[in-house]
Amino acid sequence: MKPTHIEHIGIAVKSLDEAIPFYENVFGLKCYAVEEVAEQKVKTAFFMVGQTKIELLESTDPEGPIGKFIEKKGEGIHHLAFAVENLQEGLNETAEKGVKLIDQSPRKGAEGLNIAFLHPKSTFGVLTELCEHPEE
Ligand code: ZN
Repeated sequence: MKPTHIEHIGIAVKSLDEAIPFYENVFGLKCYAVEEVAEQKVKTAFFMVGQTKIELLESTDPEGPIGKFIEKKGEGIHHLAFAVENLQEGLNETAEKGVKLIDQSPRKGAEGLNIAFLHPKSTFGVLTELCEHPEE
């Protein structure tokens, strides 16, 4: 498995209403989509930087993964997402190399991507997501 690029960087924020204007006014980036991912108990906002996205994540439930992350660590970088061409194959290869997986098989993420997370205990503390575009 070799990632083609960094698909996005996920950043946990307390409030999209505060963070979106910051990215728009300070960096001059345009928020092109806001989407709720009910299953993950988050609302996401996206900005394009070259071929990489910034994904802001606001929790919709204190018991959800982002709610718990912010309570423990505060706002900040939450995960790094690599684009891969064959996600299931990538997961199998990664598992064979002894990396602990959070998701054994792909599931649906924001923007219709197929996604899966690797366990941060296996990735030097960086919660790492692999994602593939379903049409690829
Ligand atoms: Zn992500």
